[in-house]
Amino acid sequence: MEKKQPVDYIIVGQGLAGTLLSYFLLLENQRVVVLDYPHEGRSSNVASGLVTPVTGRRIAKSWRFEELSRFAKQTYLSLGADLGVEIWHERSIVRALHSVFEENEWTRRSGYPEFQAFMNDAPDLSDIKGKIQPPHAWGELLNCAQVAMPLLVETWRASLLGLGIFFEENIDYQQIKEENGRVIYGQWSAKKLVFCEGAKAVQNPYFKHLPFLVTKGEVLIVRIPGLPAQRILKHKLFLVPLGNSLFWVGSTSHYEFEGASPSTGARVWLLKEVEKTLMVPYEVVGHLAGIRPTVSDLRPFLGVHQEHANLSIFNGLGTKGALLGPFFAKQMTEYLLGRSELEFEVDIARFENDNRSGHFFSK
Ligand SMILES: Cc1cc2nc3c(=O)[nH]c(=O)nc-3n(C[C@H](O)[C@H](O)[C@H](O)COP(=O)(O)OP(=O)(O)OC[C@H]3O[C@@H](n4cnc5c(N)ncnc54)[C@H](O)[C@@H]3O)c2cc1C
Repeated sequence: MEKKQPVDYIIVGQGLAGTLLSYFLLLENQRVVVLDYPHEGRSSNVASGLVTPVTGRRIAKSWRFEELSRFAKQTYLSLGADLGVEIWHERSIVRALHSVFEENEWTRRSGYPEFQAFMNDAPDLSDIKGKIQPPHAWGELLNCAQVAMPLLVETWRASLLGLGIFFEENIDYQQIKEENGRVIYGQWSAKKLVFCEGAKAVQNPYFKHLPFLVTKGEVLIVRIPGLPAQRILKHKLFLVPLGNSLFWVGSTSHYEFEGASPSTGARVWLLKEVEKTLMVPYEVVGHLAGIRPTVSDLRPFLGVHQEHANLSIFNGLGTKGALLGPFFAKQMTEYLLGRSELEFEVDIARFENDNRSGHFFSK
């Protein structure tokens, strides 16, 4: 029999989840190989990477924001320093309030002590005056950040390639074998294989039963030379500065969609919104689509397969990978190393199923 190369972990998928997990495992001197195939619709390649303390029209506080964002900042700063790139950009978001209802919600929330550090009722608008259509009112979200997710994934891949531990490979589930308590795939024999496949996990025979509710998101990349690039703007769409007068403008969100490619319908809708928002010249230079690994209870999926103890998953980062990713990649690392348990709220054991065919009940 062909001799297999022993490693500790095989990681399948190198978007944000696979990047962060391999980073923390390597920091622990674990032997890791990362296998990734550049499928269309990879989420991390499309994301704007925003980290925001509050979300939605009702201005709800993000789950465990202080704790998670503190850890995220520390992780992205260290990773960026190791890779020689800037991943973490602190920014505020100037946010349009489109109705009396939204303005009232804003005022009500900003009066609460736990929201005060994040909300400015009277933002300076001098730099956008005459450039953006004025909405009903404005507010400003403070202490936000923008994580350069595509840059992080790309530079981390180059670093893994340099270490000789990255392989471009579309994993064939039929070829995963378990022998003598180890998992065998390709040329490797590992203690564990961890799937970090993003939305593609819905096709994974071992984990497709988890309650994923993936959403397609589309964005335009727009050159807007007349727009200041210090702050993020949220009108109907987010306008996120990328440098060189380029802005990430999006996004759409659809549970039902055909394929992962950019679609004409989304382009038309995005263009209409851009036209309604901007009062300065612009040029559309790109159109991207990604599938977010969103899940029904808005909490990540960490854990081990009930019947195949060598097979694990780190997924379900949803719309908040930038915020959730570092903290839970570290928690997954500690769990894999046998040092701590997973929190029940993120452990896939929170779902009970009786027949593996799809019925889940939250405990
Ligand atoms: C339009 C849009 C805007 C977003 N904005 C934000 C935002 O502002 N803030 C935020 O925090 N999040 C945002 N997100 C969500 C964010 O992108 C995700 O939370 C995060 O990137 C998920 O990372 P992942 O590694 O789980 O998945 P992915 O990035 O999809 O990575 C999975 C990787 O696994 C590979 N793969 C899959 N199956 C296999 C296989 N069988 N074999 C080999 N390789 C495989 C894929 O090709 C891919 O490279 C946004 C997403 C979209 C689409």
